[in-house]
Amino acid sequence: MTIGLLKEPEGERRVALLPESVKIFIDLKVKVRVETQAGETAFSSDENYQAVGAEICSRSETLQSDLLLSIHTPSEEEINQLKKGQVLVCQFQPLSNKDLVDQLLELNITSFSMDNVPRTTRAQSMDVLSSMATVAGYQAVLTAANQSPRFFPMFMTAAGSIIPSKVLVLGAGVAGLQAIATAKRLGAVVEAFDVRAAAEEEVKSLGAKFVKVEGAKDEASAGGYAVEQSEEYKAKQQELIQEHAKKANIIICTAQIPGRKAPVLITKETVEAMAPGSVIVDLAASSGGNCELTEDNQTCEKYGVKIIGNSNLPSSMPIDASKMYGKNMVNFLKLMITTEGELNLNWEDDIVANTCVTHQGNVMSSRVKSILYPTEKVN
Ligand code: NAD
Repeated sequence: MTIGLLKEPEGERRVALLPESVKIFIDLKVKVRVETQAGETAFSSDENYQAVGAEICSRSETLQSDLLLSIHTPSEEEINQLKKGQVLVCQFQPLSNKDLVDQLLELNITSFSMDNVPRTTRAQSMDVLSSMATVAGYQAVLTAANQSPRFFPMFMTAAGSIIPSKVLVLGAGVAGLQAIATAKRLGAVVEAFDVRAAAEEEVKSLGAKFVKVEGAKDEASAGGYAVEQSEEYKAKQQELIQEHAKKANIIICTAQIPGRKAPVLITKETVEAMAPGSVIVDLAASSGGNCELTEDNQTCEKYGVKIIGNSNLPSSMPIDASKMYGKNMVNFLKLMITTEGELNLNWEDDIVANTCVTHQGNVMSSRVKSILYPTEKVN
């Protein structure tokens, strides 16, 4: 089998495999073609890939590989030229890209979307969403610290004392917990809020204060994920968040319910009530934002508050983000590579079956099938 590693589009600095991950595939007897300059923006040269045994190829040659690997999806035109049975592994958010899923079905492409990896214990080492959320949570705090007109830690100087910044983190999942840990390391006073009761202990273990709204709906049936809350709860929550937001210098927004628009936790009125010079970094920008005034991929200033809606923070840390992404890819693809370096799609494996979106004209992921094609009898 030949794996083809594609160069990412303009503006993306990560690459799906660094040379160290390519080497693992070469050792597994897999041939690897790397598109020329694929790793350049992540500081890995063509020579670095050649040194571990990869072949440097043009984009069109790389696109002819048996299994194509990238983070972003190749263009529509390029997908149209793929051959029946070729395998595409990237991150294409099938639930919001039905046209693409239709195209992959039509062309008989076997596609895996890495954002579809189940969030189970066994799949943790393949979970690119968690890896990238870790990077984003860390970078969100550094971005806020850079943009804030205040120090993060407390200072006692000859020119007087400086009180530490107050950071409020909304949502204490993967990105939120990393944001809390990073803000604590920089010396801020940190508060965090989440609807899941289980988050309280994790937040406290990082040394932050947990802000609690009583009466959250039980999430036991949602496998540990948050569920939609009642209108009464949302009103109570907004009131409490506004109270804490008024005292915060920095707010990091990370609240999400998988597959839904991001919950609005910071209204226009809350921003208006915040102290001028405060900074909001909204990680949920691409799914609507936790702040009503967030503009996706833009930084704006409203009522003296800077609101940053950067949707691709992992791209700003291309070496470590690519390292984590590549390690996730190695762990995932190992599930379907034989000792002879050949592809073996094992549909008995729940991770393979649930991450696969299309295969031989059928939708494989039951989640994608039930949401995008609820009435059709596919597969
Ligand atoms: P996660 O599912 O691990 O965590 C989300 C948390 O939000 C959960 O703990 C959940 O309980 C909580 N939550 C849900 N509804 C809430 C509410 N109403 N109030 C308070 N908390 C609530 O998700 P994650 O992997 O940490 O990702 C968080 C967000 O960051 C997502 O929107 C994701 O798309 C985004 N993200 C952004 C970037 C970027 O570069 N901007 C990169 C990676 C991830």
